[in-house]
Amino acid sequence: MIPWATRAVIFDLDGVLTDTAELHFQAWKRLADEEGLAFTREDNERLRGVSRHQSLEFLLQGRTVSEVEAEALMSRKNKYYQQMIRRLTPADLLPGVAPLLTELRQANLKIAIASASRNADEVIERLGIADQVDALGDGNSVERQRPAPDLLLHVARQLGVSPEQCVVVDDAAAGIEAALAAGMRVVGLGPASRVGNADIVLANLDGIHPEDILAMKSEK
Ligand code: MG
Repeated sequence: MIPWATRAVIFDLDGVLTDTAELHFQAWKRLADEEGLAFTREDNERLRGVSRHQSLEFLLQGRTVSEVEAEALMSRKNKYYQQMIRRLTPADLLPGVAPLLTELRQANLKIAIASASRNADEVIERLGIADQVDALGDGNSVERQRPAPDLLLHVARQLGVSPEQCVVVDDAAAGIEAALAAGMRVVGLGPASRVGNADIVLANLDGIHPEDILAMKSEK
Protein backbone atom coordinates (compact mmCIF):
# COMPACT_ATOMS: atom_id res chain seq x y z
CA MET A 1 0.00 0.00 0.00
CA ILE A 2 1.38 3.37 -1.02
CA PRO A 3 0.56 6.11 1.51
CA TRP A 4 -1.85 8.60 -0.08
CA ALA A 5 0.40 11.51 0.84
CA THR A 6 3.22 10.48 -1.50
CA ARG A 7 3.01 12.00 -4.96
CA ALA A 8 6.62 12.10 -6.15
CA VAL A 9 9.97 10.36 -5.83
CA ILE A 10 13.07 12.51 -6.32
CA PHE A 11 16.17 10.49 -7.23
CA ASP A 12 19.75 11.62 -6.98
CA LEU A 13 21.65 10.58 -10.14
CA ASP A 14 25.25 9.53 -9.48
CA GLY A 15 25.36 6.58 -7.07
CA VAL A 16 21.58 6.03 -7.22
CA LEU A 17 20.48 5.59 -10.85
CA THR A 18 23.94 5.02 -12.34
CA ASP A 19 27.54 4.75 -11.23
CA THR A 20 29.08 7.82 -12.85
CA ALA A 21 31.34 8.05 -9.77
CA GLU A 22 33.73 5.72 -11.60
CA LEU A 23 33.83 8.08 -14.60
CA HIS A 24 34.28 11.13 -12.36
CA PHE A 25 37.16 9.21 -10.72
CA GLN A 26 38.87 8.47 -14.03
CA ALA A 27 38.53 12.10 -15.15
CA TRP A 28 39.82 13.54 -11.83
CA LYS A 29 42.60 10.92 -11.77
CA ARG A 30 43.80 11.95 -15.23
CA LEU A 31 43.88 15.60 -14.14
CA ALA A 32 45.61 14.71 -10.85
CA ASP A 33 48.29 12.69 -12.68
CA GLU A 34 48.89 15.55 -15.11
CA GLU A 35 49.20 17.97 -12.20
CA GLY A 36 51.36 15.68 -10.03
CA LEU A 37 48.69 15.36 -7.33
CA ALA A 38 48.02 12.16 -5.40
CA PHE A 39 44.44 10.90 -5.84
CA THR A 40 43.13 7.43 -5.05
CA ARG A 41 39.84 5.57 -5.47
CA GLU A 42 39.39 5.93 -1.71
CA ASP A 43 39.76 9.72 -2.00
CA ASN A 44 37.10 9.61 -4.72
CA GLU A 45 34.57 8.24 -2.20
CA ARG A 46 34.79 11.60 -0.45
CA LEU A 47 33.56 13.31 -3.63
CA ARG A 48 30.20 11.50 -3.68
CA GLY A 49 27.53 14.14 -4.39
CA VAL A 50 30.10 16.92 -3.92
CA SER A 51 30.09 19.83 -6.43
CA ARG A 52 32.74 20.19 -9.10
CA HIS A 53 34.32 23.18 -7.38
CA GLN A 54 34.46 21.52 -3.96
CA SER A 55 35.86 18.37 -5.58
CA LEU A 56 38.70 20.43 -7.07
CA GLU A 57 39.44 21.99 -3.68
CA PHE A 58 39.72 18.49 -2.21
CA LEU A 59 41.98 17.37 -5.07
CA LEU A 60 44.31 20.34 -4.60
CA GLN A 61 44.95 19.38 -0.95
CA GLY A 62 45.65 22.93 0.13
CA ARG A 63 47.55 24.00 -2.98
CA THR A 64 46.24 27.48 -3.78
CA VAL A 65 45.35 28.46 -7.32
CA SER A 66 43.71 31.58 -8.75
CA GLU A 67 40.04 31.41 -9.70
CA VAL A 68 41.09 31.58 -13.37
CA GLU A 69 43.37 28.55 -12.91
CA ALA A 70 40.65 26.75 -10.97
CA GLU A 71 38.22 27.31 -13.87
CA ALA A 72 40.81 25.96 -16.33
CA LEU A 73 41.43 22.85 -14.22
CA MET A 74 37.69 22.19 -13.82
CA SER A 75 37.01 22.61 -17.50
CA ARG A 76 39.86 20.21 -18.36
CA LYS A 77 38.42 17.61 -15.96
CA ASN A 78 34.96 18.19 -17.40
CA LYS A 79 36.24 17.66 -20.93
CA TYR A 80 37.64 14.25 -19.89
CA TYR A 81 34.37 13.42 -18.12
CA GLN A 82 32.27 14.42 -21.13
CA GLN A 83 34.34 12.16 -23.39
CA MET A 84 33.47 9.27 -21.06
CA ILE A 85 29.75 9.88 -20.67
CA ARG A 86 29.33 9.68 -24.46
CA ARG A 87 29.71 5.94 -24.01
CA LEU A 88 26.85 5.57 -21.48
CA THR A 89 23.88 3.42 -22.54
CA PRO A 90 20.71 2.08 -20.83
CA ALA A 91 22.88 -0.88 -19.72
CA ASP A 92 24.57 1.56 -17.31
CA LEU A 93 21.43 1.96 -15.20
CA LEU A 94 22.14 0.34 -11.81
CA PRO A 95 20.36 -2.97 -11.04
CA GLY A 96 16.69 -2.56 -10.13
CA VAL A 97 16.38 0.99 -11.44
CA ALA A 98 14.52 0.30 -14.71
CA PRO A 99 11.77 -1.87 -13.14
CA LEU A 100 11.39 0.52 -10.19
CA LEU A 101 10.85 3.52 -12.50
CA THR A 102 8.26 1.54 -14.48
CA GLU A 103 6.39 0.49 -11.32
CA LEU A 104 6.41 4.06 -9.94
CA ARG A 105 4.83 5.33 -13.13
CA GLN A 106 2.25 2.56 -13.05
CA ALA A 107 1.41 3.70 -9.50
CA ASN A 108 0.86 7.24 -10.89
CA LEU A 109 3.76 8.74 -8.98
CA LYS A 110 5.78 11.58 -10.42
CA ILE A 111 9.49 10.90 -10.99
CA ALA A 112 12.15 13.59 -10.70
CA ILE A 113 15.93 13.77 -10.63
CA ALA A 114 17.96 16.13 -8.46
CA SER A 115 21.68 16.06 -9.21
CA ALA A 116 24.63 18.31 -8.44
CA SER A 117 25.94 17.56 -11.93
CA ARG A 118 25.88 20.08 -14.77
CA ASN A 119 26.01 17.09 -17.12
CA ALA A 120 22.87 15.48 -15.71
CA ASP A 121 20.65 16.09 -18.76
CA GLU A 122 23.10 14.35 -21.11
CA VAL A 123 23.58 11.43 -18.69
CA ILE A 124 19.80 10.96 -18.38
CA GLU A 125 19.37 11.12 -22.15
CA ARG A 126 22.05 8.47 -22.71
CA LEU A 127 20.63 6.23 -19.98
CA GLY A 128 17.36 6.28 -21.96
CA ILE A 129 15.20 7.51 -19.07
CA ALA A 130 14.58 11.13 -20.16
CA ASP A 131 10.96 10.43 -21.13
CA GLN A 132 10.24 8.92 -17.70
CA VAL A 133 11.39 12.00 -15.82
CA ASP A 134 8.82 14.70 -14.97
CA ALA A 135 11.33 17.22 -13.61
CA LEU A 136 15.09 17.67 -13.46
CA GLY A 137 17.11 19.86 -11.12
CA ASP A 138 20.83 19.93 -11.85
CA GLY A 139 24.05 21.76 -11.03
CA ASN A 140 22.78 24.85 -12.88
CA SER A 141 19.41 25.08 -11.13
CA VAL A 142 20.22 26.75 -7.80
CA GLU A 143 23.07 28.62 -6.13
CA ARG A 144 23.34 26.74 -2.85
CA GLN A 145 24.19 23.07 -3.27
CA ARG A 146 23.36 20.26 -0.84
CA PRO A 147 23.22 19.99 2.18
CA ALA A 148 21.06 23.07 1.52
CA PRO A 149 17.49 22.03 0.61
CA ASP A 150 17.27 24.47 -2.34
CA LEU A 151 17.66 21.95 -5.20
CA LEU A 152 15.00 19.61 -3.80
CA LEU A 153 12.58 22.47 -3.16
CA HIS A 154 13.19 23.73 -6.71
CA VAL A 155 12.32 20.28 -8.10
CA ALA A 156 9.20 19.97 -5.92
CA ARG A 157 8.00 23.37 -7.18
CA GLN A 158 8.56 22.23 -10.79
CA LEU A 159 6.44 19.15 -10.07
CA GLY A 160 3.74 21.17 -8.32
CA VAL A 161 3.91 19.07 -5.13
CA SER A 162 4.68 19.98 -1.53
CA PRO A 163 7.78 18.71 0.33
CA GLU A 164 5.78 16.32 2.51
CA GLN A 165 4.44 14.66 -0.65
CA CYS A 166 8.01 13.81 -1.78
CA VAL A 167 10.33 10.90 -1.03
CA VAL A 168 14.03 11.45 -1.86
CA VAL A 169 16.53 8.70 -2.70
CA ASP A 170 20.20 9.66 -2.23
CA ASP A 171 23.55 7.96 -1.60
CA ALA A 172 25.43 10.86 0.01
CA ALA A 173 25.34 12.19 3.58
CA ALA A 174 24.84 15.74 2.27
CA GLY A 175 21.86 14.55 0.21
CA ILE A 176 20.19 13.00 3.27
CA GLU A 177 20.70 16.24 5.18
CA ALA A 178 19.26 18.26 2.30
CA ALA A 179 16.13 16.09 2.18
CA LEU A 180 15.55 16.37 5.92
CA ALA A 181 16.11 20.15 5.73
CA ALA A 182 13.52 20.29 2.91
CA GLY A 183 10.97 18.47 5.07
CA MET A 184 10.96 15.42 2.78
CA ARG A 185 11.16 11.75 3.67
CA VAL A 186 14.37 10.11 2.54
CA VAL A 187 15.78 6.71 1.59
CA GLY A 188 19.56 6.40 1.99
CA LEU A 189 21.52 3.99 -0.22
CA GLY A 190 24.76 2.63 1.20
CA PRO A 191 26.31 1.97 4.59
CA ALA A 192 24.61 3.37 7.72
CA SER A 193 27.91 5.09 8.53
CA ARG A 194 27.19 7.32 5.52
CA VAL A 195 23.39 7.48 5.17
CA GLY A 196 22.28 6.41 8.65
CA ASN A 197 20.23 9.59 9.18
CA ALA A 198 17.79 8.56 6.45
CA ASP A 199 14.27 7.28 7.30
CA ILE A 200 15.06 4.01 5.50
CA VAL A 201 18.53 2.63 4.68
CA LEU A 202 18.98 0.18 1.78
CA ALA A 203 22.14 -1.25 0.20
CA ASN A 204 20.93 -0.33 -3.33
CA LEU A 205 17.76 -0.43 -5.46
CA ASP A 206 18.16 -4.03 -6.70
CA GLY A 207 14.87 -5.87 -6.17
CA ILE A 208 13.22 -2.80 -4.60
CA HIS A 209 9.53 -2.04 -5.31
CA PRO A 210 7.61 1.21 -4.72
CA GLU A 211 6.12 -0.01 -1.44
CA ASP A 212 9.64 -0.65 -0.05
CA ILE A 213 10.64 2.99 -0.38
CA LEU A 214 7.27 4.63 0.28
CA ALA A 215 6.06 2.72 3.30
CA MET A 216 7.47 4.99 5.97
CA LYS A 217 5.83 7.31 8.38
CA SER A 218 5.77 10.95 7.33
CA GLU A 219 7.32 12.16 10.58
CA LYS A 220 10.35 10.73 12.35
MG1 MG B 1 24.88 10.86 -5.52
